[in-house]
Amino acid sequence: MQLLTLRKPFRKPHLPGRRAKVALVLLLLLLGCSLSFALLNFLFPLQVQLAYSPVITASDGSVINAFLSPDDKWRMQLEQEEVNPVLKKAVLLKEDRYFYYHPGLNPVALVRAFLNNTIRGKTTSGASTITMQVARLLYPKERTYWHKLTELYRALQLEWHYSKDEILLLYFNLVPFGGNIEGVKAASVLYFHQSPKQLSLAQAVTLAVIPNKPSSLRIGVQNQRIVAFRNKWLEYYRQEQAFPEREIEDALAEPLEATRQEAPRVAPHFAYRMHRQYRHQAIINTTLNRQAQEKVEKLAYNYLQQLRHKNIHNASVLVLNNQTHAVEAYLGSADFTDAAHGGQVDGVRAIRSPGSTLKPYLYATAFDVGLITPKTVINDVPIDYAGYRPENYFGNYSGNITIEQALATSLNVPAVKVLDELEVHRFIRKLSQAGFSQIRKESSQLGLSLILGGCGVKLEELTNLFSTFANQGRHTPIRWLQSDTSAAQTPLVSPAAAYMVNQILTQLKRPDLPHNAHNSARLPKIAWKTGTSYGRKDAWSIGYNKKYTIGVWVGNFSGEGVPELNGTDSATPLLFDLFNTIDYDSPETWFTAPKGLSYRSVCVESGKPVNSFCTSHTTDTYIPGISAVAKCTHLKRVAVSADGKMAYCTSCQPNAGFEEKWYPNYAPEILTFFDSEHIPYQQLPLHNPACSRIFQEFAPVITSPTAEMEYILERNEHQQLMLHANTHNEVKQVYWYINNKFLKAASPTEKIFFEPEKAGHFKISCTDDQGRNTDSHITIRFIGG
Ligand SMILES: [Zn+2]
Ligand SMILES: [Zn+2]
Repeated sequence: MQLLTLRKPFRKPHLPGRRAKVALVLLLLLLGCSLSFALLNFLFPLQVQLAYSPVITASDGSVINAFLSPDDKWRMQLEQEEVNPVLKKAVLLKEDRYFYYHPGLNPVALVRAFLNNTIRGKTTSGASTITMQVARLLYPKERTYWHKLTELYRALQLEWHYSKDEILLLYFNLVPFGGNIEGVKAASVLYFHQSPKQLSLAQAVTLAVIPNKPSSLRIGVQNQRIVAFRNKWLEYYRQEQAFPEREIEDALAEPLEATRQEAPRVAPHFAYRMHRQYRHQAIINTTLNRQAQEKVEKLAYNYLQQLRHKNIHNASVLVLNNQTHAVEAYLGSADFTDAAHGGQVDGVRAIRSPGSTLKPYLYATAFDVGLITPKTVINDVPIDYAGYRPENYFGNYSGNITIEQALATSLNVPAVKVLDELEVHRFIRKLSQAGFSQIRKESSQLGLSLILGGCGVKLEELTNLFSTFANQGRHTPIRWLQSDTSAAQTPLVSPAAAYMVNQILTQLKRPDLPHNAHNSARLPKIAWKTGTSYGRKDAWSIGYNKKYTIGVWVGNFSGEGVPELNGTDSATPLLFDLFNTIDYDSPETWFTAPKGLSYRSVCVESGKPVNSFCTSHTTDTYIPGISAVAKCTHLKRVAVSADGKMAYCTSCQPNAGFEEKWYPNYAPEILTFFDSEHIPYQQLPLHNPACSRIFQEFAPVITSPTAEMEYILERNEHQQLMLHANTHNEVKQVYWYINNKFLKAASPTEKIFFEPEKAGHFKISCTDDQGRNTDSHITIRFIGG
């Protein structure tokens, strides 16, 4: 560009005689110079590839972590907008006040330096422009005349390829500060622990003067000398009236207490993860909230100190902002330096058993298909699913319980029952949609036990699932970088189902409230769910309000279980502390009922819409058009003899001499439970022995195998199917048939086994001693052998 503008005057035509010749010679000379420069530029291209130390920044732009450059330097990339104007002014005045006006070399200064060198035999370096210094820093060589020449050439080349601001930025990135520290950013961070923008005048001038003698002006070693040198230059700036007088005075008085410090090591697991993921990025601008991160690190560290004596050594925490979907804090382990307990393991990404923490998602999914509502009453009795017998955490059963109590108290049997009704493969598909990668990978091997923790999840997956409940059921991928845009949202559950879960998980009458938490004024208003994995290896507590979702895992990376470890006592106190610390000033606004959710009156006994005979009512939430509308059937009307000793059906009911009474309409498995627990209940009178009708309503209920299921058996293992039925309490004997062929007679509670010989469709029938029969159809498939 500059050459073109210079050439312009010589293009004027019709110059007279002698002047024209001179012009022609000059033109040819210039042309020759340009051509040879172009040729040199082609042969010796400029190579500006700086190997930076990767830097991880928090959302406020501050450096939270950094890694050495490939050539083992601390050289953190300074960006144009980070250039400190005070430092820039100080450097330009000191090094090259005509920087913005010369073409890379300052001819006046060059001539002066040449004369000084040759005539007076004195070496001066004043001729070096900032561009030449950049050239020297890019191509460090001995300072001979030849190399001086190549340096000039490189300086011209730099000016040809880069703007002035870009060259100055290169200078700021390359200038040495002693040891392996290069560039003003690394110097600001490692000497002053701040970003270049925040430097005071005294600090800026310090950084402006050190590069003169980086090896003899070492911060932390020769601070007194540096201050003397700095103040000399401050006096010079005063003469030049470069800065306001008062600021110069303050800077002169400012002590220099800086020493070289270690690079920041905030959020080490997170930083390492980002560094690995964005390997070729010099600056990785993340969404991490520095204050929140530092609080989390401190809280978790102190918290674990109290658990050490119980042999609990690790904790991981993830804090997500529900509005921005950004990671605000990330704690892979409570103590990165604790090598004895695997402190370097990143627990946020580790695959662990989720315990009960997937239950809210199961119930929300079941709300959405109309299977249940929060007040639906479900059986909580021992049950057997083809050999799988889930048990509750405390080993006891409550008989009947509402869904909301079952979730709030985290009962296992109702959860398995709901999953069985929903079907495992459907729920696995929902889990895959929610981003559970290990579950997707192992989907073919998972069964009913997955809802009790029989699967693998990551803390980040779980935390984002709960963030979904805070976002009306919409799932959004986590944002890690400032540049990550909020990706497409996947609706996982309806806003109504999410709201129902929110309301249940906010209840305070629950066993997983930490000891004494009720008396604490510092109980945060959050929805939360705890979980404890089998063998007490993992303690979880995931909580959320409108602003944040926080996931906490506590346990041992070694996988060692600890008897005292559980979600309530080991993880929830830390969760509460975290909310109270990070989110202490959050307004206590809560989720409001969304469109698509409505209220209805239901019977307390069943949770179904009230029937004429239902006397205790309660209000329940439901999803119109989705939730089941069948009315309550908790009672049934039975005709009994006048003495109350005999029951009739419509076919044996006499014309007179009977009365109609209401009796509880219990499911067979509840009756079995009552009998086994010796719980008294209102029994029906014996049915009219003279009745000829077979009462299908009391027919056996085949509980195993499950009807319409496909069973996959290993041929070589000679696997057997278990047959079991619940029968009416009068029944003394049942008869089993396979494909209409008699198999065996058995007592009503006995479990029968049979080994299918071929694959295909099977009809399984159970007939009781009253002649009532139930059929069930299944399919058998063989693998192996
Ligand atoms: Zn009722
Ligand atoms: Zn009858």
